[in-house]
Amino acid sequence: MKEFFWRYLNAGMNKTTLDAVLNELVLANRILANEGVVDAYGHVSVRHPTKPERFFMARMRAPELVERGDLMEFGPDGQPVSDSRSPAVERFIHGAIYEARPDVQAVVHAHAEEILPFGITDVPLRPVIHSGSFIGRNVPVWDIADNFGDTDLLVRDMSQGRDLARCLGNNNVVLMRGHGFAAAARSVIEAVRISVYLPRNARVQLAAMQIGKYKPLSDGEIAARAAGYKPYSTQTWRAWEYWANRAGCGHMLGERPVSDTKKTEGG
Ligand SMILES: [Zn+2]
Repeated sequence: MKEFFWRYLNAGMNKTTLDAVLNELVLANRILANEGVVDAYGHVSVRHPTKPERFFMARMRAPELVERGDLMEFGPDGQPVSDSRSPAVERFIHGAIYEARPDVQAVVHAHAEEILPFGITDVPLRPVIHSGSFIGRNVPVWDIADNFGDTDLLVRDMSQGRDLARCLGNNNVVLMRGHGFAAAARSVIEAVRISVYLPRNARVQLAAMQIGKYKPLSDGEIAARAAGYKPYSTQTWRAWEYWANRAGCGHMLGERPVSDTKKTEGG
């Protein structure tokens, strides 16, 4: 661990920024576990703040148990940078999305049960509740079998990761047939937010479909929600602080952002 940080200090990195980013990543692991988005499997990553071709993700460990010392640095090929510990098999999901989407700063991959029906039927998952608006209008479904035939469904190399990233396109979420989802966002907090509300949105849509015809959010409503959102606003912090405390990690929270808007968001 000591060596890990010395590498950055020696490279003249901004320790504060890196420190904050890695702290946020540990919190994200704990929150996603506590909110039931991930279990023993699933992972969240963040792009390196000053070396954008690299990213950080925990070693192969259940997110609920992830600590700072479990974080590993990965190169653009999805391979660990000077680290011999076992990385998560599906790190290529993250590597390929960072490669394809320079705007993306954080990625979540999980197997949340509620979204799975939408990956194996022809019914599209749509944003149907206000907090689900961030999944975006289109949630494409990636089928690994289309280009790779019979596999164990895991994304095991960059070519599979790139195929997934192509399907994601410019959307925020891609479903993975019979497997799970990947969410891409502009910040760790935003990636967590999308991932927490994605299963909830799926539950509501499924419930509505049992009653009758359902009405998704309109394009204008989705745009209006997105326009009021800032990754590091006080409104966003409200949810982050809540989730962190629920996960027993309130003490790990960084500094609360200074209020920058009077617009209320989230209700
Ligand atoms: Zn997976």
